[in-house]
Amino acid sequence: MIPAAFEYFAPKSLDEALRLVARHGDEAKLLAGGHSLLPLMKLRLSAPRYVVDIGRIRSLRSIREEGGRIVIGALATHHDVEASELLRITCPLLPETAAEIGDVQVRNRGTVGGSLAHADPAADYPAAILALDAEIVATSSSGTRVIPAAEYFVDLLTTQLRPGEILTEVRIPRTGENSGAAYRKLHQPASHFALAGAAARVTLGPGEKIESVAIGITGVAVNAYRATAAEQMLIGKKAAPKLLAEAAEKVTDGIDPLGDIHASAAYRRAAAAVYARRALEAAIARAGGKKA
Ligand SMILES: Cc1cc2nc3c(=O)[nH]c(=O)nc-3n(C[C@H](O)[C@H](O)[C@H](O)COP(=O)(O)OP(=O)(O)OC[C@H]3O[C@@H](n4cnc5c(N)ncnc54)[C@H](O)[C@@H]3O)c2cc1C
Repeated sequence: MIPAAFEYFAPKSLDEALRLVARHGDEAKLLAGGHSLLPLMKLRLSAPRYVVDIGRIRSLRSIREEGGRIVIGALATHHDVEASELLRITCPLLPETAAEIGDVQVRNRGTVGGSLAHADPAADYPAAILALDAEIVATSSSGTRVIPAAEYFVDLLTTQLRPGEILTEVRIPRTGENSGAAYRKLHQPASHFALAGAAARVTLGPGEKIESVAIGITGVAVNAYRATAAEQMLIGKKAAPKLLAEAAEKVTDGIDPLGDIHASAAYRRAAAAVYARRALEAAIARAGGKKA
């Protein structure tokens, strides 16, 4: 189908883009990689009057280290993340997650900012962003605000971003020693979106006890979330297979899983436990210096 008519802008700077979104409010939509917005426009599920293509704002595409954190620009593509040497060394969870997204075409066009702003319930990055305790930076014509990942995902396709704000970067704290992280996912065979995906980050303390753990779950509920009941069960304990399996069963505690033509709610709940256990096992092995 052909989208409804719209006026197209291609600003070359962030300031110019911010002026456009401030002027046109919720009649404007930002266009990044277009891999979520354009299908919606073609199906006429979205019909913005103004489309602001931010793809030419080169300053938003860097991946760098700054102030002890890794900073990923909103326009970094999934391929940029997958191929980043800096991330491979400092935060391998993100390249591992990016490599799980869609196919080559999707990874070459889709962006970190677009994925996090769209907040598809089955998108992959949200699980990793939650497990990493990342911060999302939103910029508007009146300034910049920093949103912790744990507060960012609110509901189906809904985040803390406000009209007039552009997600400009994601900040990732550096992980300490004896830490490991992993993403494991059951994918929908056609689109590769997650039917259930789990990202786990673990730090081991003396005696190989779990000093800290963060688990992000995607694909299961209307929005990605931290599995806090499972995390609490693990803290301070030695990672034995039985404990990991019991904790993984808790990742859907208090959650109402989605059911649709791709997977029933019961299937998603069961898959979430399996993939959370696998993510935890791999994260713990890596934290202990083993390959996984
Ligand atoms: C066939 C196919 C398979 C896919 N498989 C997967 C998969 O397995 N896993 C997965 O995670 N994703 C998958 N995706 C989605 C893909 O990752 C998209 O690239 C991503 O969801 C959106 O990124 P984008 O840059 O294309 O955003 P766009 O489509 O350009 O924008 C998406 C939305 O975000 C808004 N937006 C974009 N950038 C910003 C910004 N910087 N600030 C504020 N708002 C912004 C737009 O206005 C729009 O509402 C798939 C997509 C397709 C088409």
